Amino acid sequence: MHSKFIFITGGVISGLGKGISTASIGRVLKFKGFSSTAMKIDPYINFDAGTLRPSEHGEVWVTEDGGETDQDLGNYERFLDTTISRRHNVTSGQIFSVVVERERKGEYLGKTVQPIPHLTDEIKNRIYEVAKNTKSDFVLIEIGGVVGDYENILFLEAARQMKLEGENVLFVHVAYLPFLSSLGELKSKPVQHSTKELLSLGIQPDFIICRSDHMIDNVRKEKIAMFCNVSAESIISNPNIENIYDLPLLFEKQDFGNKILKKFSIEPKDSDSSLWETFINSLKNPEKSIKIGIVGKYFDIGDYKLPDSYVSVIEAIKHACAENAVKPEISWLDSKEYEKGPSKLDELKYFNGVIVPGGFGSSGVEGKILAIRYLRENNIPYLGLCYGLQLAVIEFARNVCKLEDANTTEISNDCKNPVIDFLPWQKKIIQENKYGATMRLGGQIVKIKNNTKAFNIYRKDSVVERFRHRYEINPDYVDILEKHGFIFSGSTPDGSIKQIGELPTHKFFMGAQFHPEFTSRPLKSNPMFNEFVKACTTS
Ligand code: GLN
Repeated sequence: MHSKFIFITGGVISGLGKGISTASIGRVLKFKGFSSTAMKIDPYINFDAGTLRPSEHGEVWVTEDGGETDQDLGNYERFLDTTISRRHNVTSGQIFSVVVERERKGEYLGKTVQPIPHLTDEIKNRIYEVAKNTKSDFVLIEIGGVVGDYENILFLEAARQMKLEGENVLFVHVAYLPFLSSLGELKSKPVQHSTKELLSLGIQPDFIICRSDHMIDNVRKEKIAMFCNVSAESIISNPNIENIYDLPLLFEKQDFGNKILKKFSIEPKDSDSSLWETFINSLKNPEKSIKIGIVGKYFDIGDYKLPDSYVSVIEAIKHACAENAVKPEISWLDSKEYEKGPSKLDELKYFNGVIVPGGFGSSGVEGKILAIRYLRENNIPYLGLCYGLQLAVIEFARNVCKLEDANTTEISNDCKNPVIDFLPWQKKIIQENKYGATMRLGGQIVKIKNNTKAFNIYRKDSVVERFRHRYEINPDYVDILEKHGFIFSGSTPDGSIKQIGELPTHKFFMGAQFHPEFTSRPLKSNPMFNEFVKACTTS
C-alpha cells in the first residue's frame, strides 16, 4: 500500500499532549492491522534537541541511530513499538540550513530562493523520504506548536500542498475546550476559532480531537461540527485520563480507527487490542505498591518540569512495574538537601529502591554521591543511569578504595584521582566548542561478561543499548576498583570502555553507562529496569 499521511495540528494552547494523541492514533491503526510510523516537526531553529535544556524543553530523546531529538519520538516508539530514526524529527533549523547550503553550492541555478517553494519542497522531501524508508502504511506527522503561531506556517503550507498535489492526506486537529466552573460548562468557542485559523490557511480538518477535562457531550459535538465544517462523528473526545496508555483504548471505544480507515476508503484487516488491554489491566490492578526515589538536582528545575525532564525513566519504571504486577510510587529526592547535612539521608531507608538518572555538571553531585554511599552501605536497591554509574564509581573509589579526591574531570579537572575522564576523542571536541551532536550517541554494542548479574538479567553475550555521554570510567582505575569488589560486567566489544558496573554482594546495585530507559517498551520492559523493580518488590 502506498503510504497515507495524517497530519496532526494543535489548537488553542500548547501542552495538550498532541504527541500522545499522535502515538495513540498509530496504536489504534495497529489494532486494525496496519503499520504506522510517526514524525515530529519542531518549528524552532535549533538543529536538533541536543543543545536544549531539559528543564525548558523536556527530556532529550536519543534514537538508535544517534539522534538527539524531541521527547515525542520516545512516545512514538513506546506506543507503536517500533524503532524510529533521527530523520523523523524535523526542525526549521535543518530545513533552512539544507536550503542555504544548496544555494551556496549554486544548485538553484540563479533562481531566487524563496520560502515557497524551496523551503516547503524540502519539508515535503523529508516526509516522503520517511515514507520511502519505512514503507509504513501510515505516516503520522505531528506539527509542533499551535495553529496561528508564526513559526509553523511553512510546515502547514507544505501539508496543504501535499493534499493539493493528490497525496492521500488527512488532517487531525487537536484543540482545547476549557471548562468554566462558574458556568459548569465546556466552552467550544476557542476550538471554533482555531479551526477557522486552520481553514484560513487552506486546511480543512477531517477530525477534531477535543482535549478537555471531561468527555464531550452530543450538544457540544453538534455545535463544533456545525461551526467547524466537520461531521459530529468526526469529533473525538480526549478527556483527562489517569494514564497516558489508556488513550488508544479510549479512541478505540469511539471507533476512531475505523473512522480514519473509512476516510481513506480502506477496510480494516484486523481488530485486536487484546495485548494492549492486558498491559493496561496489569498497570491498573497491581498486587502491591513499591516506593521508588529518584535523586536529582531538582531545585533548579521546579516541580512542574520534573516529569517532562525524566519522562523515559518514569515510563520505563511503569513498564517494569506492569510486568511485575506492582504499582510504583515515585518520589523526587533533591540531592542538594543531602549536602546540607547527613541527617536527611535517612529518608532513603523508606524506599524500596532508588535511581540516580543521567545528568551533567557539578550541581547537586556531592549529594548524589552521599545518597549512593547510603544505598550501598544499607543494601537498598540502586540503579544508576549514565551519570548514576559514574558517580557510583566515584563513591566506591573514595570510600572503599580510599582514593583521595576521586572525581570526574567533568567537575574537577585537576583532581588527584580522575576515575571518570573524557572519552579520549571528546577532549578536542570540547576545546573547539563543538557541542552539538558530538557526544558518544545512540545504539552501541555492550558485551556482557559471563557469571555476572548483568548476564543473568540480559541472558545474552551482547546487547545494544543507547548512549549519550562524553566521559567514561578511566581505564587506569579499572584494576584497583575490581580488586576492591566492583565488577565491570559490561564493556565495548574490545573491552576498552566499561559500560556496566555492579556489586555482586549487594541486593541490587547496578549502573549502566547507557540509558536503558530508551529501549523500554510497554509490552516489553527493559531487562535492567525489570530486575531493579523485582529487587524492589522484595525489599
Ligand atoms: N555527564 C556525563 C557524561 O557526559 C553523564 C551523561 C549522562 O548522564 N547522560 O558522560
